[in-house]
Amino acid sequence: MSLLSGLLRFRPRSRDLPCQEVVEMVTDYLEEALSPAERRRLEHHLAGCEHCTEYLAQMRETIRLAGRLTPQDLTPEMRTDLMDLYRRWRIEG
Ligand SMILES: [Zn+2]
Repeated sequence: MSLLSGLLRFRPRSRDLPCQEVVEMVTDYLEEALSPAERRRLEHHLAGCEHCTEYLAQMRETIRLAGRLTPQDLTPEMRTDLMDLYRRWRIEG
């Protein structure tokens, strides 16, 4: 285990997958670019985390509205907006 992944694991209230990682994986998930193992971990996390479930729903809606959207099409502004939204959920939650 690398030092970094060791630090990421060492968190109070940690789930098996940190929310931050889920957020970073969501675009790949929607593009079906995840490995089966990654996909299982993400879906397991989603089952117990309403914030990430909502984030995924937002991403789906964004992609639907934009038509065919790939992660590369996400502008820095869109990423910032989504991360701001995400941070608000974290504060409120
Ligand atoms: Zn989460």
